[in-house]
Amino acid sequence: MGHLNYLPNYLYSIAPRKYMAYMLHNFKKIPQIQTLSPEQIFAIEVVAHILPFKTNNYVVEQLIDWNNVPDDPMFILNFPQKNMLSPEHFDRMAGLISENADPVVIRDTAHEIRMELNPQPDGQMERNRPIHKGKPIRGMQHKYRETVLFFPSQGQTCHAYCTFCFRWPQFLGIDELRFAMKEADVLQDYLSAHQEVTDVLFTGGDPMVMKADTLSVYLDAILDGDLPHVKNIRIGTKALSYWPYRFLSDGDADTLMAVFRKVIRSGRHLALMAHFNHPHELQTEAAEKAIHRLRQVGVEIRCQSPLLAHINDDPDVWSAMWKEQVRQGCIPYYMFIARDTGAQHYFGVPLHRAWKIYRQAYQKVSGLSRTVRGPAMSADPGKIQILGVNEVDGRKVFALRFLQGRKKDWVCRPFYAEYNENALWLDDLTPAFGKEAFFFEAS
Ligand SMILES: *Cc1c(COP(=O)(O)O)cnc(C)c1O
Ligand code: SF4
Repeated sequence: MGHLNYLPNYLYSIAPRKYMAYMLHNFKKIPQIQTLSPEQIFAIEVVAHILPFKTNNYVVEQLIDWNNVPDDPMFILNFPQKNMLSPEHFDRMAGLISENADPVVIRDTAHEIRMELNPQPDGQMERNRPIHKGKPIRGMQHKYRETVLFFPSQGQTCHAYCTFCFRWPQFLGIDELRFAMKEADVLQDYLSAHQEVTDVLFTGGDPMVMKADTLSVYLDAILDGDLPHVKNIRIGTKALSYWPYRFLSDGDADTLMAVFRKVIRSGRHLALMAHFNHPHELQTEAAEKAIHRLRQVGVEIRCQSPLLAHINDDPDVWSAMWKEQVRQGCIPYYMFIARDTGAQHYFGVPLHRAWKIYRQAYQKVSGLSRTVRGPAMSADPGKIQILGVNEVDGRKVFALRFLQGRKKDWVCRPFYAEYNENALWLDDLTPAFGKEAFFFEAS
């Protein structure tokens, strides 16, 4: 029994109450909701008909500071806000709800509005779906040579939903957009045909909503599959933030640790790509214990987050977060730019400001935190980092580079775009110095 090798479970049992999931149909039962005005509650209801909404008792009781609502970053992260929709979209849905419209009409209207919110930026699904034995595989993306993204179909939900999330079409049951893949042997088969792959990244949703037994089916397919070229396994998750008990006191938490140990014993690097948006998420007793336990097992924890207006668009928030991550033995990894989907007008931070926030935060931390790379846009051609704003020959330009590119030759080659104060995303940029196209557009 693997779990005898580390601290017994009872030391981690800080006995959370039963996991309560609150969603559209029952969120009004949350006692703390009564601190809001009827208008605020109605606004949540309206927006939650369109954007995903799910919270739980840990988030409500331990992450959100209800004395600080409506400005509390954890509240904004988890509870839909009126301004996340345009006034027209809001009023349209609010009207239907107030007049008790037919549920079918409400549903169809919600769908229409969602389709106007760019649910699939960059054609992500189509462009990166691998072809294997002549057929496209669902539930996988293979965009960068070394790394395969795998979306286990049981991990396409989350312990709570982030209001900014670009994965939101997956939670809303829009079937044609949903990644699904049940067969671990398709994964195995694909990996054995692709000797160039060193990393598999399990993602979702949140793969940490899966039972340990389910996860181990997929991991065993890699461990038992004669795939020595697959050296690193990563799991993207927000469970350390939204439900740290997943690693402590959930019924199969000990089994989960045993599954992780097995991966590490196979000689592989196991990394949790932890999603933290705010230092507060790292500071609860449960989060700290969960991080400690994972590190004892030998799991590396690397941290990433988008930069989000209303939540973390402040250098002090980032420097505090990186310092806290490093103190607890985690590794700051990526700062992302919020992508052009859903409520981007609400969360978006202009590129020049994103760079300033990154730079100011970076200046406040020691080298141990400077493993973080950003601010970066995960766009169609690749992951593009904003190196900064500079003046060349009296012209203001953005200097940029690829951290990852569709073609490996693109990586680390600096390039320049015309300075644009309002640019939020790659689409808003044009090449500097009168060039017709960016170098990567020509090929
Ligand atoms: C970010 C990302 C990866 C991983 O890139 P690393 O630089 O290795 O962290 C892999 N695939 C896709 C599609 C990504 O966006
Ligand atoms: S946990 Fe991740 S996938 Fe889930 S809603 Fe938040 S950002 Fe999206």
